[in-house]
Amino acid sequence: MDLSFSDEDIAFQHEVRTFLAENLGAGTKDRSDRGLHPGREDMILWQKMLYEKGWIAPNWPREHGGPGWSLTKKYIYNHEYFLSGAPQVSPFGINMVGPVIYTFGSDEQKTRYLPDILKSDTLWCQGYSEPGAGSDLASLRTRAVRDGNDYVIQGQKIWTSWAHLADMMFCLVRTNPEAKNQAGISFLLIPMDAPGLTVKPIIGLDLEHSLNEVFFDDVRVPLGNLVGEENRGWTYAKFLLGNERNLVARVARSKHQLNRLIDIAGKEVAYGGRLLDDPDFSRKIAKAEIDLMALEYSELRYLSRELAGGELTAEPSMLKIKGAEIAQTIKGLLVEALGVYGTPYETDEETAERNDGAIGPDHAHGIQADNLYQRAATIYGGTNEIQRNIIAKMIFGL
Ligand SMILES: Cc1cc2nc3c(=O)[nH]c(=O)nc-3n(C[C@H](O)[C@H](O)[C@H](O)COP(=O)(O)OP(=O)(O)OC[C@H]3O[C@@H](n4cnc5c(N)ncnc54)[C@H](O)[C@@H]3O)c2cc1C
Repeated sequence: MDLSFSDEDIAFQHEVRTFLAENLGAGTKDRSDRGLHPGREDMILWQKMLYEKGWIAPNWPREHGGPGWSLTKKYIYNHEYFLSGAPQVSPFGINMVGPVIYTFGSDEQKTRYLPDILKSDTLWCQGYSEPGAGSDLASLRTRAVRDGNDYVIQGQKIWTSWAHLADMMFCLVRTNPEAKNQAGISFLLIPMDAPGLTVKPIIGLDLEHSLNEVFFDDVRVPLGNLVGEENRGWTYAKFLLGNERNLVARVARSKHQLNRLIDIAGKEVAYGGRLLDDPDFSRKIAKAEIDLMALEYSELRYLSRELAGGELTAEPSMLKIKGAEIAQTIKGLLVEALGVYGTPYETDEETAERNDGAIGPDHAHGIQADNLYQRAATIYGGTNEIQRNIIAKMIFGL
């Protein structure tokens, strides 16, 4: 196993670091550090800058507008990107539906949608989950029925992140209720301004609005909005979920948050000294750091295996489980470090409206809300229990 980078890779790493240091604005970084959700305009502005640089879609092949990087370069880019504290690019267009469209879509769909995804001129959301169809996604019931040149859609989605900011949804619908669960599903592209489509907010534990319910009441979309073949949507859905799961080891993001934790623990006071010097608290930090290091080396081992032509099976599930748990531990420690100021929290809007500033020291702002939002990391992208089932099946043959 060779974990070293070539001279070319190291030069690339330096280029990425320099670009981010020069272009990531302090305000954007600060919001991302605190886990505050970006607004639509800020998100588009930042993503357009990455587009101009040619780095918006690290995983896309060159023929579709990606940089055509090697696996190692993709790894380096992602690592440096999150280590710098840059905000996550909205994954629904770039990481999810884009690859589905260039792999399974028609030429017309590629021409129509891919350039706008790259330029962030169209923002997307993911219409998979329904009440009663989350882990057991194949039991989804939203129906699409052919009527002339259209599909007519009736049903409901839930937990749809950023639906209120999106222009388009990629959506799983049932087109054949007679077929076995997985066999009767299709993959549709739906404009969010279609008549009959309603978005209702769900306010999360963090008191923020990122989640939604989406209702379809005889929503019509042209037959041309079907991706691939009718009733073969499950194949495309699984392809997309595989890409989604690869996003969630979050090593560099957790490293960045760990550095932040060390910085804050150096400012907070405990027993007349710095919290960072408290043996009990520093032991907790060290444990998180060791777990993170082990996760990083697991990620590098899997990268090395892929570079040598090997295949991964349940490894992304292992990375997802540990990555989410470590991220939650670090966010929990950030709250603990704040002491009494870890308890009260205000939404971003509430803080902006106060003329006496946020409660507690400046570094406390956003931490509790982010910690509460982080609880979702063991749920979205396939819950940790479902990932354990995958490991049990693929590795232990149970
Ligand atoms: C913050 C957030 C953002 C999300 N964004 C989106 C989005 O943009 N688009 C979208 O489509 N969905 C989204 N989701 C939904 C997410 O994909 C589902 O919540 C997830 O798949 C779990 O489904 P569920 O909530 O219906 O829970 P359930 O499937 O009902 O599970 C409930 C509990 O039972 C456990 N469980 C279920 N089945 C098994 C089993 N076979 N073995 C062992 N344990 C099991 C689960 O692990 C869980 O603990 C989001 C969720 C969250 C929290």
